[in-house]
Amino acid sequence: MIIVMEPGASEESIARVEAKIRENGLDVHISRGTERTLIGAVGDERKLEPKTFETLPGVERSLHILKPYKLVAREWHHASTVIDVSGVLVGGQEIQVIAGPCSVETDPQMRDAAAAVASAGARMMRGGAFKPRTSPYAFQGKGVEGLDMLKKAAAPHGLPVVTELMDVRMLDAFLERGVDVIQIGARNMQNFDLLKELGRVNVPVILKRGLCATINEWLMAAEYIAAGGNHKIIFCERGIRTFETAYRNVLDVTAVPVLKRETHLPVIIDPSHAGGKAWMVPALSCAAIAAGADGLLIEVHPSPIDAWCDADQALSPAEFSALMQTLSQISAAIGRTLPIPSAAKQAKSA
Ligand code: PEP
Ligand code: MN
Repeated sequence: MIIVMEPGASEESIARVEAKIRENGLDVHISRGTERTLIGAVGDERKLEPKTFETLPGVERSLHILKPYKLVAREWHHASTVIDVSGVLVGGQEIQVIAGPCSVETDPQMRDAAAAVASAGARMMRGGAFKPRTSPYAFQGKGVEGLDMLKKAAAPHGLPVVTELMDVRMLDAFLERGVDVIQIGARNMQNFDLLKELGRVNVPVILKRGLCATINEWLMAAEYIAAGGNHKIIFCERGIRTFETAYRNVLDVTAVPVLKRETHLPVIIDPSHAGGKAWMVPALSCAAIAAGADGLLIEVHPSPIDAWCDADQALSPAEFSALMQTLSQISAAIGRTLPIPSAAKQAKSA
C-alpha cells in the first residue's frame, strides 16, 4: 500500500503513519520527494484498509498496489485452470454447454429435456429445484424432490447436473444427492456466509454475477469460496441491470475478456437470463463464444410455452439443436471445439 502525504506534512504525522504500518506487522519504506513524501507499506498489504490511514493527520490519500483478490487472480496463477466436473472438463480447449429447463417440473418434462439436450450435444444438464422468484406467490421449485428428479433424468445420458443452492441449510441435501455443480444465483453472489460454506466443500461452484455487481465485487465473492479451500469456481455472466428496459438484462460481453485476463478460472455465459427472450439467445450465445467464454448455460424446455418458469426465454429442442450446430462452427473458427453428436445419433436418442 502507498500512503501519499499532503505537501508539507509534518515529521510527526509521517512518524504516526509509520507506527501504524509497523503495528500491523509490515515494513515501511519512506520516499521523500521535493513536494511530497510517499510511504510504502511493504509485506502482505491486504490486511490494511486504505481508509484507516486517510483519517490520520497529514495523509492525502492511501491506495492498495496489490489486487485485493489473490487465489483467483491470474497474477498469481498464470495457467488457466481446467475444472473437472464428473469427467467434463470446463476451462480447457473444449467449449461446454449446460442446458435444461429453468425449473424442474415433472418427471416426463425432465426426461424429455434430458434426451433433447444430450442429443444436441450439451455435456451437462441444468434444472432449478429451489427457485429465487420475485414474487413469494410464484412457483418456488420442487425442493429436494426436484434434486432427485434432475439426477434421475440426467443419469441415463451421463450428464452431470447443475442446480441452484439458495440456503446453506440445504447444502447437505445437495451433497447427499451428488449434485455435480452447485450454482450460486445472481441474488446470492454476495451472501458471504453461503460462500464461506461452499469454501469447505469439494464440489465445483458456478458463481453467477450479481445483478449490480462490479467485476471487482464478483472476483472478491469468488475469493471467499477459494479462501475456504475450494478452488473449483466457474464464473457465469448472466446480464446486469442498467437503464435499458428493452430486454431483461444487459449481457456484459466485455466481462469475458476482462475476467479471462484477471482470473485463471473458467468463465461462462448465461444468454437466457441476459436477454430474457428465446429469440435473443442464439445471437448472445454466438457473441459469448466469439468473445472467449468457456461455455454457456442455456434454458431449454421440451415445450417452452408450457414452462412453469421463464417460459419466454426457453429454447425448444429444435432451436437448441440448430444453435449448437452454429456454435460448433464458431468454436472451430476461434481454434476451440464443441463436439456435437452426428445427425444419425441425434435422431436415435431423441
Ligand atoms: C437461474 O439460472 O435459474 C437463475 C435464477 O439465474 P440468475 O440467478 O442468474 O437470475
Ligand atoms: Mn430461469
